[in-house]
Amino acid sequence: QVQLNNICKSYDGKKQVVSNVSVTIEPGEFFVLVGPSGCGKSTILRMIAGLEEINGGELRIGGNRANHFLPSERELSMVFQNYALYPHMSVADNIVFGLDVKKVPKQERKRRCVETADMLGLTDYLDRKPRHLSGGQRQRVALARAIVNESPICLMDEPLSNLDAKLRAHMRAEIRQIQRRLGLTIIYVTHDQVEAMTMGDRIMVLNEGEVQQVGPPLDIYNYPANPFVATFIGSPA
Ligand code: ATP
Ligand code: MG
Repeated sequence: QVQLNNICKSYDGKKQVVSNVSVTIEPGEFFVLVGPSGCGKSTILRMIAGLEEINGGELRIGGNRANHFLPSERELSMVFQNYALYPHMSVADNIVFGLDVKKVPKQERKRRCVETADMLGLTDYLDRKPRHLSGGQRQRVALARAIVNESPICLMDEPLSNLDAKLRAHMRAEIRQIQRRLGLTIIYVTHDQVEAMTMGDRIMVLNEGEVQQVGPPLDIYNYPANPFVATFIGSPA
């Protein structure tokens, strides 16, 4: 369980870019943060990851107050928008890099790498360098790198934004499949309404750092809480 209680953030001590955001994300839930550019989505995700200081409110992960946990003390993994892979390393080494750092034994690393590669259709590419992969394949490596950690919570920030429409649709389905299979909690950031509506168990619509509405996609579509949500989601008038 990931709990946000009145979370606030200001980068300059004046303007709040995240204001009093509260929500409880349940284990195994696919939770989407959606809203226009600059509304604070990445900032919220980075606070949950421990990459950004929290200026107000309380973050709880698994029941424990986590405001000041180091990133390494949080049982979560993260996929960024610019999934930088290590160019000089093979796909296999890229996938298990985090496990090396955590000193996971070699046998175990190997087992997890093979399993994860299989799940993401990367088995035939393990010896290649990232530059010899397509964009979609690189994206899979980035996902593999997060999933191989076997952390119960996975944070994803616009992980599909560099892909073409067709591949994006395919990867959406694939991510959902893996999420269900592994029972992961995923907190997923996108500015794409369609992505939010098709992927989320629940979605949170944000505007200018404030929560506009939280709920299952259909509820939000059918019963938008305010004109902003209606326009943003494209609800029928
Ligand atoms: P996008 O969809 O474009 O990625 P976002 O919803 O992820 O947008 P954030 O990156 O969280 O938005 O930014 C929220 C606000 O905070 C923006 O006004 C942004 O300019 C500001 N901001 C983000 N990072 C910093 C920073 N490191 N220092 C100062 N201001 C920042
Ligand atoms: Mg962002």
